[in-house]
Amino acid sequence: MKGNGWSRFFRLKGTVFLYLVVVLSFPVFSGSRDEGAVQIPVTPSIGHFLPESGKSYFLRSRTKEKKTNELCIAATEVLFGKTLVPDHAVAIRDGVIQHVFPRTHWRWQQCERKEAYTGILAPGFIDIHIHGANGRDVMDQLKQPDSLSVISTYLPEEGVTSWLPTTASARPRELSRLLSSISSYARSQPDKEAAIIGIHMEGPFISKEKKGCHHAESLRPISISDLNIWKESANDLLRIVTFAPELKQSDELIRWCTLNRVIASIGHTAAKEKQALRAIEQGAEMGTHLFNAMSMPTSRNAGVAFSILNHPKTAFEVIMDGHHLSDVNVQLAWKLSQENSERFVLITDAMSAKGVKNTDGIYTLGKDIQVVIRDGKALRADSDEEVLAGSIATMPGSVRTMRRITNCLPEQALLAGSYHPAKALGLRNRGLLQQGYLADMVLLSDRDTLSVIATWRGGQKIYTSHLLSSHEIHLAP
Ligand SMILES: [Zn+2]
Repeated sequence: MKGNGWSRFFRLKGTVFLYLVVVLSFPVFSGSRDEGAVQIPVTPSIGHFLPESGKSYFLRSRTKEKKTNELCIAATEVLFGKTLVPDHAVAIRDGVIQHVFPRTHWRWQQCERKEAYTGILAPGFIDIHIHGANGRDVMDQLKQPDSLSVISTYLPEEGVTSWLPTTASARPRELSRLLSSISSYARSQPDKEAAIIGIHMEGPFISKEKKGCHHAESLRPISISDLNIWKESANDLLRIVTFAPELKQSDELIRWCTLNRVIASIGHTAAKEKQALRAIEQGAEMGTHLFNAMSMPTSRNAGVAFSILNHPKTAFEVIMDGHHLSDVNVQLAWKLSQENSERFVLITDAMSAKGVKNTDGIYTLGKDIQVVIRDGKALRADSDEEVLAGSIATMPGSVRTMRRITNCLPEQALLAGSYHPAKALGLRNRGLLQQGYLADMVLLSDRDTLSVIATWRGGQKIYTSHLLSSHEIHLAP
């Protein structure tokens, strides 16, 4: 552009002015991120621009404030939002994350209570499909009313902070009693346990052909009146219903789920491509343990598995124990969900032997399926062939396996077990370490072994491993 001397002078002045506006306003913007009540999708790297010495105009004005009553927990790596960042801290008040910031930020000095660790601080895991652990099955609750407590007390050892007790097919009345027992337990659940945040009903509206470990005599035709009774028994805690879309009235079931804000999840099904696509169109939002207990593709029929995978918005559960799925199937599922990776939801589908120290012996899955544990696999005891019956997978183990098979980033695998299930359930306050989210967190030893060092629920430490002291960073008083 050409111009005379004066216009060049004004252009230059304009540029300098613009430069000053950007530079001077930056700290204010980074500060407004701290103060804003609105949840902002934060780019963690903003924090890195904060001056280490904390001497900018904005930061200096803050250092005069008195100590906050926040608990601050720092780690050498923090999964902040969706990115792993080094040396950050999480400030917690009333169980909720107030800020996530670099340890060089002035806030660190203001924290009343401070803890610092080596390791990765990540959101607590959320398991939306789990039948049992620690020697108990969810179905045991009616006969042994401490079963949910036994499971919920154990789960923080694996970094799980929320879970959905998952029921197996049973008679309607029994399910009704079970659901009301789960919901009454959940209402008065102690804070030190992994939170029961819903119920997943796996059956009884599933296909005989793909029943897996469910008893054939417990399977039933779809009944909306049963669903209404169960919803009432569950006291609105019902979150997921796994169903087979080839059954009569599946459209009605999906409509009922949509109306009642329950996820209709396609699973244990021999449906054809057309039936699967229709179910998705009608509002089925998820697939239950993708590839397992569902129809697979042939040349002229994509089956349920590929119909779900090919749909850009349908979430799907993945059992990542290294036994339920071939590596190629896992890689395919991961690649095909890259445009919207939140669809890829890690679950354990674990049964009662998970977490038991010496797994020799016979366990039950659901009410009375006999299961033996061999080479890390949960297998039906009544079959000579290898029939998988749930798993003894852990969430950190699943994250490790996912990384090995897909070669994804550590944060991607961690989020598949926390943010993705929260997203599938429509939760906006769990699954991320970010302002406004519940301080449900897990400290993991490092990127590779992922041993659980400590677990917090709502900012309260609910589990510590014997390794904790070797991960503590001693802070100057
Ligand atoms: Zn299951």
